[in-house]
Order: sequence, then C-alpha cells, then structure tokens
Amino acid sequence: MQVCPFCNKQKNDFYLETENFAVIYNISPILPGHSLVIPKQHKESLFELTDDELAKFMQLGRTTAALLCKVFNTNAFNWAIQEREVAGQSVAHLHMHVVPRRLGDMVNPGDWYQRLEKIESGDIDTYERFRLSEEVLHTLTQKMKQKAIAFGLRK
Ligand SMILES: [Zn+2]
Repeated sequence: MQVCPFCNKQKNDFYLETENFAVIYNISPILPGHSLVIPKQHKESLFELTDDELAKFMQLGRTTAALLCKVFNTNAFNWAIQEREVAGQSVAHLHMHVVPRRLGDMVNPGDWYQRLEKIESGDIDTYERFRLSEEVLHTLTQKMKQKAIAFGLRK
C-alpha cells in the first residue's frame, strides 16, 4: 500500500492551519514561497468537500496568498487545483497550489503553469524537479510560521 505523502505531514510541517485544513511549503517549489493548501484528512477530490468545507478551504487559500504576498513583498499570486491524473494531479490528496509572483520572476509570466505540470508529472532528477532537502524545508516552514505570527495570522 502506498503511503500518502500529505497524510504523512504533521503539525510541525504546517505553517498555517485551521481545524480541518493546513498549509505546507512545497518540497519542489516552482518559485520561492510555493505552498500547498491541503485537507488534514485524506480527500482526493474537491467534490468530497461540503459547501462549508469548500468555503474554509478557499478562505485558507486566500489567507495563504495574503501572507505570501506580505512575505515576498508583492500583490500578485497564482493558485491552481489539478483534479485527477488526467488534469495533472500526481498526489491523490486534494491540494491547492499558491505561488507568489514578482515582476520579472519568469520570462513569460504564464510559464508558471508549464513548470507546475513538470513538477506534477514527477520528472524526478531533472532541472525542473528541483527538490529542497528536508532540513531546508523545515527551516522555511519555521520562517513562514514566524511571519504568520508576526502578521497576526496564527498564534
Ligand atoms: Zn492523503
């Protein structure tokens, strides 16, 4: 049985969280700050959320975007959900990508999605599939936690 990498995440890996949802820093960021909003319980699809859960999921996504914009000194961001493998979903645990954007961070601003697809397609050991070490990931998570506290978004 395959272990779900997002079900494996623990409280210490979350830099923001609500009762049922959490935010983690992506181990393969396409740009600095690239984060994922996930349900704490294993859910594959957006359609498994109740209307209330959907609202809370999106609200946490917006809070995440607001925090990332403050931390990266911008007002621009992308967010995306890939639903099912056909659409490029690689980890079968619902997740929303949130990526802060800055002027000139990519030659063509629209290229972010292509890069996201390369990450999701699991092309490991390629330039596109750059992975952070667990140690760096932990450090970045701690820094984001501190920023979240500084901006009054968590205790
Ligand atoms: Zn899971």
